[in-house]
Amino acid sequence: MSIQQIMVIGAGQMGSGIAQVCAMAGYNVILHDIKNEFVEKGIAHIQKNVNRQVEKGRMEEGEKEKILSRISPSVSLENASKADLVIEAVVENMEVKTQLFKMLDQFAPDHTILASNTSSLPITEIAAATDRPEKVIGMHFMNPVPVMKLVEIIRGLQTADDVYDTIEAVSKKLQKVPVEVNDFPGFISNRILMPMINEAIFAVYEGVATPEAVDEIMKLGMNHPMGPLTLADFIGLDTCLYIMETLHEGFGDDKYRPCPLLRKYVKAGWLGKKTGKGFYTYA
Ligand code: NAD
Repeated sequence: MSIQQIMVIGAGQMGSGIAQVCAMAGYNVILHDIKNEFVEKGIAHIQKNVNRQVEKGRMEEGEKEKILSRISPSVSLENASKADLVIEAVVENMEVKTQLFKMLDQFAPDHTILASNTSSLPITEIAAATDRPEKVIGMHFMNPVPVMKLVEIIRGLQTADDVYDTIEAVSKKLQKVPVEVNDFPGFISNRILMPMINEAIFAVYEGVATPEAVDEIMKLGMNHPMGPLTLADFIGLDTCLYIMETLHEGFGDDKYRPCPLLRKYVKAGWLGKKTGKGFYTYA
C-alpha cells in the first residue's frame, strides 16, 4: 500500500519527534493535538531541532524549509479523512486511546492504517475498539525519535500481513530499524527496561543509595549510556507508572508492582524533565 499522507496524533515529545522524522523522509504530515498551543509547541520543538541541524552544517537551509513546509497543524480529528497512515502518540492511557481509535475509525478512509506508539498497552485491545482490527498495529518509536534507530513493530492478534509489511517499509524509509514482536504487555523493550527502572526507584525508596549513586553505578559499572533514574525522568514518570501498571495488570504478577515512590512523585506532578522536576531538577 502506498503511503503519502501521515497524520500524527499528539504533539508531545514523541509525536513531535515522529512528525519530524516523517517530514524528513518526504512524507506530508498533519500534526494534531487537542489545543492549538500544544500543536504550536510541538512544531516549535521540531523547528528547534532542524535549526540545530543547520547550525551544525548537517542540513541545508533549503532542506530545512522543505521539511517544515510538509508539516501542517490540526486540532480537528476530521483531518484523518486525508491520511493513509495515522500514528497515535497521546497519553499512555487505554481509555483515552480506545476513544480516540473509535473516532479515527469513523473519520479515516477504509484503506487507512491506524498505528499506535503505545509503550505497553495491548494493541489487540486498541484494535478491538475499531471495525478494522486488521489495519491496527503498534509502531513503537524510541525517545528521542530523531536519534534512536529502533522501531518495535507490534502485531496485534488480527493485524494483517500486508499491514505489517507496509509499516516495516515506512519504518525503513524513516531510516529506522524495524524489529517485529508479538502483542504481550510491555512488548520486549519495556518488559525488560521498565522493571529495571522500577527496581532503581525501589533502591532509592529503601535508602540503599541516592539517585546520583544509582545512576553512576549503572553508567560506570554496566556501561549504560544514561543511568536508569535519568532515563526515567527523560521518559516521563507518568509514562513509567502507566507502563508498570500495564505490566502488573497484564501479567497479574506482583514482581511488576510500581514502587510507591514513583506513585508519590507522579501524584505530586513531578513527571521528570518535561515538568522540570523528577529525580533531578531541570532548568
Ligand atoms: P507527552 O505527554 O509528551 O505528549 C502527549 C500529547 O498528547 C500531549 O501534547 C497531549 O496534549 C496530547 N493528547 C492527549 N490526549 C489527546 C487526545 N485525545 N487527542 C489528541 N492529543 C492528545 O507524552 P509522550 O512522552 O509523547 O508519550 C506519548 C505516547 O508515546 C505514550 O503512549 C507513551 O507511552 C509513548 N512513548 C513514550 C516514550 C517516552 O520516552 N516518553 C517512548 C516511547 C513511547
